[in-house]
Amino acid sequence: MSGTPTDVTTVRARRVLVGDEVRPATLHLADGRIAAIAPYDGADVPDLDVPDTATVLPGVVDTHVHVNEPGRTHWEGFATATLAAALGGVTTVVDMPLNSIPPTTTVAGLRAKQAAAAGQLAVDVGFWGGAVPGNEGDLEPLWEAGVLGFKCFLSPSGVDEFPPLDPAAFLRALRAVAGFGGLVVVHAEDAGVLDAAPARPSTAYADFLLSRPDEAETRAIRQVIDGARETGARVHVLHLSSARALPLLRAAKDEGLPVTVETCPHYLTFTAEQVPDAAARYKCCPPIRDAANRDELWAGLVEGVVDCVVSDHSPSTGEEKFRGGGDLQQAWGGISGLQVGFPAVAAEAARRGIDLATVSRWMSAATADLVGFPGKGRIAVGADADLLVHDLAEDTVVVADRLAHRNPISAYDGLTFPGRVTTTLVRGRVVDAGRPDRTWGRQLERTA
Ligand SMILES: [Zn+2]
Repeated sequence: MSGTPTDVTTVRARRVLVGDEVRPATLHLADGRIAAIAPYDGADVPDLDVPDTATVLPGVVDTHVHVNEPGRTHWEGFATATLAAALGGVTTVVDMPLNSIPPTTTVAGLRAKQAAAAGQLAVDVGFWGGAVPGNEGDLEPLWEAGVLGFKCFLSPSGVDEFPPLDPAAFLRALRAVAGFGGLVVVHAEDAGVLDAAPARPSTAYADFLLSRPDEAETRAIRQVIDGARETGARVHVLHLSSARALPLLRAAKDEGLPVTVETCPHYLTFTAEQVPDAAARYKCCPPIRDAANRDELWAGLVEGVVDCVVSDHSPSTGEEKFRGGGDLQQAWGGISGLQVGFPAVAAEAARRGIDLATVSRWMSAATADLVGFPGKGRIAVGADADLLVHDLAEDTVVVADRLAHRNPISAYDGLTFPGRVTTTLVRGRVVDAGRPDRTWGRQLERTA
C-alpha cells in the first residue's frame, strides 16, 4: 500500500496554528480528537509529516452553505457539496434551510434533510432552521431537534417556498427565539428599498448594482439591530456586502448588543470594476461592490466589526444561472465558493499583509463560536482533529469543470491563488479525494 494514511495518529509540522501562534509541533490524535500537542522533535516517524512550506490549521467551519438537497439536488447535493468542502479545507458545513424542498422550516423538513444526508457526508454537517411567515410555532421544536439557529429574509429570497418576514413577523420571530436563547441569522436587504430601486432588464453590471443599492443593506441592518435591542434576541447579519453598514454595526457592538456579522470570499476578492457585463457567474445578492468598498470590508474584518468569513455557497444549474442570456435581473443570484473560499481569502489576505492565523480565526474559530461548537475550529487538546494543510509551495488553480461541486460554474474560474489545501483531516481521517468515506461525516446537532 502506498499513499495517504486513512487514520492518522501523529501529525508533525514546522508550522502549526496553536492558539494564536504558529509554531513547530507534533499533534497526537486519538479517537478523532487532538489528544496531545507535543514538541516537534522527539516523535517517532509521524504518520503525516508536513513539508516546511506548509501550515497546519484547524479545518474551516463554513456556516453558510446551500446544499439544496432534497428537492433541488440537481443544483447541488450532500455528496458533491461535502467533497467540494473537504477539498477546500472545510471540515464542517452548516446547511442553509432554503433552496431544498422542503425547506427546513418544520421538524418534518429537518427530518427529510437528515434522511437525505445519511451516508453521503465526507465532512461534518449541521443544519440551520428557517423562520418564515406562520411558522412561529415550529421554531422551538426545531431548536429542540438540534438546529443551530434560524435564518430569515427581509426581502424575497429567490424561491417561493421560503417567503420573507414583514417587520411585525420579524419581531415576533425574534421574540420567540429570544425566549429559548436561540440565534436569528438574517439576509439583510430591505424589501422597500429594493422595490423602489430601478431594476430594468440589462446585461450591464452597473445596472444590476443600481437594483441592489447600499441603502437596502443599511436600512435592513438598522432594523436587525433595532430588533435585537427591542427583544434581546441574538442576531447575526449574513453576507455583509456594503461597507456603509459598518458604522451601524460598530455602534451596535459598542452598545453591547448581541450582534455578529459575516462577509464572504467573493466580496473580499472581486470588485465591481472587474466584473464584465452579462457575466452571471458573479451575480449574488447583495452584490459585489466597488474596490473602495472591498478595502473597507477588509478593514472591518481587521478591526473586528466583521466577525467571520463564510462562503455563502449558493449554486444552481446553468439553466438558472444563465437564464435570460446574461440579463442580470433574471440570472440566479448566488456564487459557488465552498471549495475555493479558503485559498482565495488566504491569498488576498497575504497580499494585504494579514497572516494565516488571522484568516483562520475568521473562517474557523469565529464561525465555530457562532454556532456553539467549542470542539471545532481550533487546534487544542480535546478538540476534534479537523485539520487542513495549506502549502505555499503549490498554487490553487481554479478550473470550474474540475471543481467537485455539482454544477461547473464559478466566479473564480481561471484564477490562480498562491497556496493550496493539500490535505484535509476530518476527526483524524484523511479525506481521500478519489474515494471519500461517506460514512465518516457526522450530522451535528446543537450542543449548547
Ligand atoms: Zn445564502
